[in-house]
Amino acid sequence: MDIRIERVSPDKAKKKPEGALGFGKYFTDHMFLMEYTTGKGWHDARIVPYGPIALDPSAMVFHYGQEIFEGLKAYHAADGRTLLFRPDENAKRMNSSCHRLCMPEIPVDTWVECVKAAVKNDIDWIPTDFGTSLYIRPFMIATDPFLGVRASDHYYFIIILSPVASYYESGLNPVRIYIETEYVRAVRGGTGFTKCGGNYAASILSQSNAHTEGYEQVLWLDGVHREYIEEVGAMNVFFKIDGEIVTPSLEGSILPGITRKSAIELLTKKGYKVSERKLSVREVEEAADAGKLEEIFGTGTAAVISPVGELKIGGKHIVINDNKIGEVSSWLYNTLTGIQWGRIEDKNGWTVTI
Ligand SMILES: *Cc1c(COP(=O)(O)O)cnc(C)c1O
Repeated sequence: MDIRIERVSPDKAKKKPEGALGFGKYFTDHMFLMEYTTGKGWHDARIVPYGPIALDPSAMVFHYGQEIFEGLKAYHAADGRTLLFRPDENAKRMNSSCHRLCMPEIPVDTWVECVKAAVKNDIDWIPTDFGTSLYIRPFMIATDPFLGVRASDHYYFIIILSPVASYYESGLNPVRIYIETEYVRAVRGGTGFTKCGGNYAASILSQSNAHTEGYEQVLWLDGVHREYIEEVGAMNVFFKIDGEIVTPSLEGSILPGITRKSAIELLTKKGYKVSERKLSVREVEEAADAGKLEEIFGTGTAAVISPVGELKIGGKHIVINDNKIGEVSSWLYNTLTGIQWGRIEDKNGWTVTI
């Protein structure tokens, strides 16, 4: 693929951030852009200085929300290589989001090539401490200046890059979560399985209420019965109940996380019994009452593994594993981060060197 590169002039290059990086606060000097026009396909791939993009106020993304995104990281390995973790999975998932939102797909190889080119061009922005990384945010927006409701005929595919800190700067901390009983995130048949901005817009009120009450995240229930566990905030969720590791099965309303998929594969190989099935709140409550709720943890690219220390169900507070990190959570965290940062052998061929 032909990618035109326009480097930022040296006097306009940004100073690299010093001190705490946080998450998604700093952006590199460049961004990748590519355009789609019906009849012409994807064209004008380019890397240009990072900066605002001009859009017509009637651009369709502002009105009907045709917007999807992905999230992955570039890791600085111990031996100096730059690694990506299963980027083809992100490409495939973005195409599945494209299909659902009637947006144009990008061939997997092309998609990965765009990501690699963007990262390579800002390679000196990848932080090098263990746990830090360059967060990669590819996204697609509909840009036709038109107020009728239909699929747009013009799109931008953009990749921006942000150096981020380790999610756990002071160690792996268990989070407090509660079960959301009023609002739902998604229903089967809707867009729950896609990474579209609209899913997030609809989740912010619950997230904000949870923060007001002193919880970090909400646990979403299914939109029909309000009985089955779906996921936690922006993470997939796993429960260890009496030795069995359970995660809700993907039935259209849950985001198919790549960390989730990798965790299932690693745990199964390690010999754990892992079940993808329906899991009701009642079953979780009964397991807790019987002393059989051993661990709960979330999985996602940002935090990798997020142990849950406390769960509120209605008026009841359940403390899990003494509010300490469980054995499975900590093994998974060490294994996944070990593979991602090139510290332990990648026997599954998940990492891709740039
Ligand atoms: C991105 C995301 C996840 C986690 O997916 P990963 O591929 O593991 O990062 C889980 N739930 C939601 C709603 C998400 O948007």
